[in-house]
Amino acid sequence: MECEICGVEGAGYVVLVEGAKLTVCHDCSGAGKLLRAPQPARDPAIQSARAGKAEMEVVDGYGSIIADARKKMGLPLEVLAERINEKHSFLERVEHEKTLPDAKLAHKLEKELGIKLLQEVSSGTAVDVKDRQGKGMTLGDILEIQMKKKKD
Ligand SMILES: [Zn+2]
Repeated sequence: MECEICGVEGAGYVVLVEGAKLTVCHDCSGAGKLLRAPQPARDPAIQSARAGKAEMEVVDGYGSIIADARKKMGLPLEVLAERINEKHSFLERVEHEKTLPDAKLAHKLEKELGIKLLQEVSSGTAVDVKDRQGKGMTLGDILEIQMKKKKD
């Protein structure tokens, strides 16, 4: 979209100038009465999800994958935790799927145990909402919390 005043690319403002609605750039948005400003940038996570960009997601059943691999290698939890520089209690929570490992931790575990924990998902398509509890916040969770807050 070109600015209807100066012709620059990237006009996002709509202003009313002498009764005419013009789509203009930021610099020209002061020329008249501002009717519409560009949409504020959304949460980058949501934005990339909307764009359907491939993202890495921790696979379902990651806890048992980690635990199985670890046991096969005969590694006590404490030893594995030490090797990847994490707290043993934290790793335990991950194995019990009470905590979702972040990508960094998942990578370390993948390397250490020779397992696959991350899969590429293109979010924006069907998002698996079942059994989401304890696996990080979803938009639905956030909305629910906000609703609850309003009620209080
Ligand atoms: Zn302009």
